[in-house]
Amino acid sequence: MASEKIVDIAIIGAGPGGMASAIEAKLAGIDNIVVIDKASTHNDMIHKFYKRGKRVDKDWMGRKAEFEGNVSFEECSKEEYIEQMDKLLESHGVLDKFVYDVEIWNTVKGEDGLFIVKVSEDEIIKAKNVIVSVGRMGKPNKPGYKFPKPIRPRLNFNLSKVVNGEKVMIIGGGDTAGEYAYGLIELDDMQDCEVTLNYRRPKINRMNPINTEMTMKYINNGKLLNKMGVDIESVEPVGEEGDERVLVNFTDGKHGVYDRLVFALGGTSPKDFLVNSKIETGKWDEPLMNEKTMETNIEGLYTIGDVVTDQGSIALAFNHASFVMKDIVSKQK
Ligand SMILES: Cc1cc2nc3c(=O)[nH]c(=O)nc-3n(C[C@H](O)[C@H](O)[C@H](O)COP(=O)(O)OP(=O)(O)OC[C@H]3O[C@@H](n4cnc5c(N)ncnc54)[C@H](O)[C@@H]3O)c2cc1C
Repeated sequence: MASEKIVDIAIIGAGPGGMASAIEAKLAGIDNIVVIDKASTHNDMIHKFYKRGKRVDKDWMGRKAEFEGNVSFEECSKEEYIEQMDKLLESHGVLDKFVYDVEIWNTVKGEDGLFIVKVSEDEIIKAKNVIVSVGRMGKPNKPGYKFPKPIRPRLNFNLSKVVNGEKVMIIGGGDTAGEYAYGLIELDDMQDCEVTLNYRRPKINRMNPINTEMTMKYINNGKLLNKMGVDIESVEPVGEEGDERVLVNFTDGKHGVYDRLVFALGGTSPKDFLVNSKIETGKWDEPLMNEKTMETNIEGLYTIGDVVTDQGSIALAFNHASFVMKDIVSKQK
């Protein structure tokens, strides 16, 4: 029989939302918790998707950050942010609550009123409350056209595979696209890359002022090649078999050949997780929940962070964690 453990709160996802939830719980005097992540570190999305040395902004996607709970951060580089979070988790004594390399598919309430979280064939955790903070980047948004098999390794969603000397095109018009584009130009060990920015609109209008300024600076001085105002119709392999490059067919009838495309189009709501957990969702597959408490239609089941917003931020995820904890604590009284 599977082993069973009962906790007050099971937190799914150890990104900013899940991590802040663990700290808020501890500060609220709730110690019997578990944080489960499919990756092998906390803040894994940030490890994977933020470029090296990236500045971690407090105000992100045009939203002014006001920290409303107990968790905050100082604006710094990606590496320093991770360090700050390591220290924060350690100083609050919650590091031993984290279980890594376990993917959770759903959570449903059993007849005893406790949520079942299946950790493995041999282990289930039963939880009085569950906080779902699984983000959106598990499934980055893909364009509508097909990715032919031979060039799939060259069609990426972050910069981790870029090799110096490559001809790279970044696709997207938001902050992430801008940071990837000018970030690549600024990386010391990527100086031989040729970087192009493709955005279907002719002008940047979705980036924050710093990213707009930086992106425009490199477009204006010619270091960032401008391919804005045109969409991509399709991509296909070109060149020697086994070493095919990417032929891009643009909607204006023009073509280009690249070593790598990096799509920065945001991420998709984890619909399957929500639906399989019987959480009611709206038109855009977003979970329907109480915006003050973050509680879904199911009592004791909360969704926070990027799951509930298509343009989330670290500060917002931190704040959501504090809203949830206030609700859980108020129900205990
Ligand atoms: C390139 C980029 C740059 C950004 N820059 C900034 C910035 O400068 N400032 C800012 O405020 N915001 C920035 N953001 C946004 C910010 O990173 C997010 O809003 C924030 O990380 C959301 O936190 P979260 O906890 O909701 O989700 P995430 O950080 O996505 O964390 C979700 C976690 O859940 C885990 N997980 C997913 N599914 C499962 C599952 N089924 N089972 C178990 N675990 C699971 C993942 O492994 C992950 O660790 C940026 C985003 C990107 C992509």
